[in-house]
Amino acid sequence: MNPVIAVDLGATNIRVAIVSGDGVIEKKISDLTPAFPKASKDITDVIIRMVRSVAAEKTISDLEGIGISAAGPVNSHKGTVLSPPNIALPNIPLVVPLSEEFGLPVYLINDCPAGALGEMYFGEGKGCMNFVYITISTGIGGGVVSNGKILLGRNGNAAEIGHFHVDTRYNAKCGCGCTGHWEAYASGRHIPEFFSRWCLEHRIKIAGDWASSPSGIFDAIRAGHPGLEGFMEEFGRINARGISDVIVAYDPSRIILDGSVIGNNSDLLLPLIQTFVDRFLPLPEIRMSRLKGLAPLLGASVIARGYDTAAGSLLAGVE
Ligand SMILES: [Zn+2]
Repeated sequence: MNPVIAVDLGATNIRVAIVSGDGVIEKKISDLTPAFPKASKDITDVIIRMVRSVAAEKTISDLEGIGISAAGPVNSHKGTVLSPPNIALPNIPLVVPLSEEFGLPVYLINDCPAGALGEMYFGEGKGCMNFVYITISTGIGGGVVSNGKILLGRNGNAAEIGHFHVDTRYNAKCGCGCTGHWEAYASGRHIPEFFSRWCLEHRIKIAGDWASSPSGIFDAIRAGHPGLEGFMEEFGRINARGISDVIVAYDPSRIILDGSVIGNNSDLLLPLIQTFVDRFLPLPEIRMSRLKGLAPLLGASVIARGYDTAAGSLLAGVE
């Protein structure tokens, strides 16, 4: 199999790599996502330049295809990213401009199912027919493999589990505009806000700026800052509510956790999930991803080949 180009378009960074058929990243570069693009072309121009740079020593036509994993929502049929939360554009067509530029097949997938595909082919999902990939970092997202097939939904946005409703007490506001969603409490972006709200409600005074980042908050808890045991219990309950909903929705035999928030704080967070998660269905095996944050990029390398495999495909190309 010839190598492919894999692109991971995030809110902050764009990563582009050449990946061989067995998932080996031959070369990878990274650049900032344009912060204030005036048009979608500002984004596609950066990706095109990065693809040319990473493939400089190859002949483009020898490559098998281009796979793009993008922070959703997406329309995989139309090859477009829709109203991304951190980029002020209504939509970003990616498949058509890149395919016209390089003359290669181009495919687009939401970065959470992309992470699941990365794990399925190269990571902790290998050989597992039913698993859920959950990433807890800036946001919270999920990708589901059910009976060996990736679950994509109507347009490729199935399993947006960060928007599961997990709380009615604090009614924290989510980036999507609703309240009570898992991501509004337990994602890197929202943890400091929820922490400050909890401290206010429990009359705990916080001095210093350590409470402005998740790592500052978790370090203070590790150092035994007085009065915060109750916060960890509440935080654990909320994470366990989200995980419990994942379990009853998808009945997985394995859950694979990825993302900086859970990756850097698994010592604190995993025991609480085990304590508070519902036992209505048998508890799945819980594993941490070992792909070092590259699961979505590796998933993009899988769809770059068309992903017309036993796992099924919605990615037939552009409508
Ligand atoms: Zn939401």
